[in-house]
Amino acid sequence: MDLRQLKGIGPKRADALRELDIHSVEQLLHYYPRAYLDRSCITKIKDLPKHFAAGKEVTVIASVFRTEVRRTKKRTKIFFLTIKDETGFVTCVFYAGVEWYANAFEQGEVLAVSAVPELDRLNRIQFIHPEFDRLSHGEDDDETDWSKLLHTGSIIPKYSSSEELRLVGLDNRGFRRLLKQAVTAVSTAVCEHLPAAVIQKYHLPGIHAALRQIHFPKSYAERDGALRRLKFDELFFFELLMAYRRREVKSGWKGISFSPKSELARLLVQTLPFELTAAQKRVIGEITADMQASSPMNRLLQGDVGSGKTIVALFAMLVAVANGYQSALMAPTEILAEQHYRSLEKLLASSPLTLRLLIGGQKKRLRDDVLEDVRGGQANIVIGTHALLEERVLFNKLGLVVVDEQHRFGVAQRSRLREKGNEKHPDVLVMTATPIPRTLSLTLYGDLDVSVIDELPKDRKSIRTAVRGDEDKGKVYAFLREEIGRGRQAYVVYPLIEESEKLDLKAAEGEYVRLQNQIFPELKVGLLHGRLPSDEKDAVMRRFSQKEIDILVATTVIEVGIDVPNATVMVIENAERFGLSQLHQLRGRVGRGGDQSYCILLTNKRLQQKKTILAADRAQAQEEIVTSQQRLQTMVQTSDGFAIAEADLRLRGPGEYFGTRQSGLPEFRIADLVLDAEIVSIARDSAFGIVETDPHLRLPEHAEVHRRFEVIYKHLLSLVRTG
Ligand code: ADP
Ligand code: MG
Repeated sequence: MDLRQLKGIGPKRADALRELDIHSVEQLLHYYPRAYLDRSCITKIKDLPKHFAAGKEVTVIASVFRTEVRRTKKRTKIFFLTIKDETGFVTCVFYAGVEWYANAFEQGEVLAVSAVPELDRLNRIQFIHPEFDRLSHGEDDDETDWSKLLHTGSIIPKYSSSEELRLVGLDNRGFRRLLKQAVTAVSTAVCEHLPAAVIQKYHLPGIHAALRQIHFPKSYAERDGALRRLKFDELFFFELLMAYRRREVKSGWKGISFSPKSELARLLVQTLPFELTAAQKRVIGEITADMQASSPMNRLLQGDVGSGKTIVALFAMLVAVANGYQSALMAPTEILAEQHYRSLEKLLASSPLTLRLLIGGQKKRLRDDVLEDVRGGQANIVIGTHALLEERVLFNKLGLVVVDEQHRFGVAQRSRLREKGNEKHPDVLVMTATPIPRTLSLTLYGDLDVSVIDELPKDRKSIRTAVRGDEDKGKVYAFLREEIGRGRQAYVVYPLIEESEKLDLKAAEGEYVRLQNQIFPELKVGLLHGRLPSDEKDAVMRRFSQKEIDILVATTVIEVGIDVPNATVMVIENAERFGLSQLHQLRGRVGRGGDQSYCILLTNKRLQQKKTILAADRAQAQEEIVTSQQRLQTMVQTSDGFAIAEADLRLRGPGEYFGTRQSGLPEFRIADLVLDAEIVSIARDSAFGIVETDPHLRLPEHAEVHRRFEVIYKHLLSLVRTG
């Protein structure tokens, strides 16, 4: 159904909606409210002091009484908006966007204003950067009697808008009017696509009811039912895609049946200076069983930092080599690839195998030589970065692909390396130090089998973690000196955040100079960051691991995988700027030997607070402080990677956690992979069930599923046709 069939949509609005990717009434109906005006939080102005104590958000319905722009002594502008209801007045303060606000309100206009009440210097209640909703514009209004609406018990939807949309009248109220119309046309605009059996089995509302109720619910229970159905849909089609991916690997592809015997692997285990943990042995068993099978292995190996994944991967690589195949190991950074190369060379020193390293920064002669060895088959094991994915890299006989720290690579990169195989599909083992909850791993890696190393080597001591303020820096330095006096080494890590990378880099460099010249002139301080040419990085790392450097000042390039067991102290500057998983990874750089290790999280709370006051979205900035403190406390409380990953997911949500674009995870609009675990699992069951019974979606009851799946995943259609 065309948008133009709705009253009030002319070319301008149609254009504006197109920008939101809304081209039809159906798509408009999927423009869900961002929130609802919650009547239980509505209060009178005179009662605000009561709510101040509770510190929770409240809403007042009031009209615009006065607006005013004032200049401060520093000549910045502040906008004041005073609103009133029949019980009193309250002032709203805006520090940012003053120009816009100054012309945004009309005298007498009725607003719903929501914020956490705060006090001004004279102890009067004020709202700072409140959220506001226009309820009426005085005259021209067809939803006039708001007080009546509010009291008849309807729940009022709120829609997001933007300046461009507002210009064509599509503010909150404009959307509300449009959706009112769209909802009455829902049964002509939208087709039910789920099979009746699925709807019945999971007690879902039909699509028409769900769309009506998400916009104009009669109760919150009704809204929740609608939300459940719409989330189900979103997840269902994604799981359908996963079902096809898995089917393709399991039944469509021919893999290599390796013989699991490898003399080299046996010797390796015998000569290790330690005993493999029970978990490592079990996982090696799972992997070799997979390698024996005739369908290609597609396995995820999860194991916390330091759990010993590398040796497991090496074991698998040796099995492939013993069968006359090549193995490839791909790491996310050059430093890590080089380190893997060095440590595998050491482990295989007495074997006749040839290892080659392929990374971006190599000289042409060397690189050509490596490529030649890879193509000719002289190289048994090839280690590299994503340089391995380049077209000119041709393998002679690739049998096994290992991808380290998988979360740094996307699904696409993973499969590109797999495609380097020849007549048969190579086995794929992806490793990650970011353990994730089971429902989530099923969804994210739905096409993979999962192995978990859930045990750390016995000799590991737990790392003592503490949060310290900048005022404690003197003590922290003294502690560093003490540890280094006992023959240990330390890291000092600085954050690098993209938007201000240059400034941050300068800060790290400046700190390096300061630490070396002023704080620790008697010690050897080194600097490592991503911008260094790769041979310099390599040199610094080597000097650190050979103990020629005592303190390594670094950016997060050391986050993954670096292994220097003698380093026992990790100091993280501006720790509040790091995500939990990142902190956990960084902390995992110490505690790798037998000595007690320490992690010190430095954070400057006062500076953080000062920034908040200047932030455009103050409430968000405030929340960011709270969650950053929660992150640091989580680090102090636990070193369990699973617990940390779950906390991180809770605090950040999966989209940001996995970096949506990279992970191949779609941007879910309403579903949440963590909070909606129950819906994820029923959506998964029904999608997998359908693909099992009707893989080509030929049954009449699946016709609409088929049509919609094609619309959503256009580019992946071949899966259904050939799958
Ligand atoms: P990660 O799982 O983080 O990649 P690594 O494979 O780098 O961990 O292993 C961390 C360190 O633990 C390495 O120095 C490795 O040699 C050592 N290691 C691996 N397995 C064991 C074990 N079973 N017992 C003792 N040390 C081990
Ligand atoms: Mg590792």
